[in-house]
Amino acid sequence: MPAASRIVSEVDFTRDGKQHGYLRLFHSVHASAYGFIPIPVVVIRNGEGPTALFVAGNHGDEYEGQVALANLARRLDPARIRGRVILLPAANLPAAVAGRRTSPLDEGNLNRSFPGDPDGTVTQQIAYYIEHALVPLADLVCDLHSGGSSLMYLPSAQLPGYRPDGSSAPGIAALKAFAAENAYIVEANQGGDRTLAGACARAGVLSLGTEAGGAGHVTAVALRMVERGVVNLLVHLGILPESDRIAAPTPTRYLEVGGAEYYVYAPDNGLYEPLAELGESVMSGQPAARIHFPETPWAEPVMVPFLHKGIVLCKRMPGRTMRGDCLFHLGTEVAV
Ligand code: CA
Repeated sequence: MPAASRIVSEVDFTRDGKQHGYLRLFHSVHASAYGFIPIPVVVIRNGEGPTALFVAGNHGDEYEGQVALANLARRLDPARIRGRVILLPAANLPAAVAGRRTSPLDEGNLNRSFPGDPDGTVTQQIAYYIEHALVPLADLVCDLHSGGSSLMYLPSAQLPGYRPDGSSAPGIAALKAFAAENAYIVEANQGGDRTLAGACARAGVLSLGTEAGGAGHVTAVALRMVERGVVNLLVHLGILPESDRIAAPTPTRYLEVGGAEYYVYAPDNGLYEPLAELGESVMSGQPAARIHFPETPWAEPVMVPFLHKGIVLCKRMPGRTMRGDCLFHLGTEVAV
């Protein structure tokens, strides 16, 4: 039996109707001795049935999911659903308010903090609560990410923890229901078992997510993809009626993200000149980028190639780069 979280919920997850309030994370600091960090939460319930948990603001600078869940929180009518929908639109609230990937309070990256710690930093306490209090309530968890400040994605739905042995069939079915223009499967995502997806795997709860867009902004196309997918997952679970399903504007293209050869990293510090764009098909060995040196502009730039063929799924946005920054990653088309 794991220790109880110290976070106190203002909403009752077992009650019918629509409630909104805060998860109170008590945070005793110089300016507020008995204060709490108010993490917004919405629960919409109508009788027995499946539970869907939607999370956004896991990374605070990823905005599409935060907007989509705010819209859903206002629009979703409890009388039209069967079961329960839990919305956590700003999971790492201090990071979301700061518009940063990590929390300004403790530099915590929530999606590298699972399973968390009930007596740890603010970010570790949030992770612990999500893993031990929310995930066990859910039949499906959808974690809405994007590329954040430094990356831009081809708007995509994503299935982490994919296994080619057939055990991922329920995840593939949910990914298909999402009806994104692009959807990708990945066996091990960047954060591994320290992510919310890792928490779901430990609990045996189905999880999927998005990499909606990014670059520190919201595009209409990416937001539409997220909002369509959220409704379609509720239909898929039987929480909303079939008549609410939203068709994809184009058939979904399925991609797979493999190992290290799918990624391109900056080999030096400097100014990065991309030689490919999102959505482009590239070949192994094709130039991906050149790194220039503004302090010695007469020096030859360093060329960095793609190490695999594929479609450019993700691209770094800021021009200045440091050795080790991810510049691109690819996906390869796959039948699912
Ligand atoms: Ca993210």
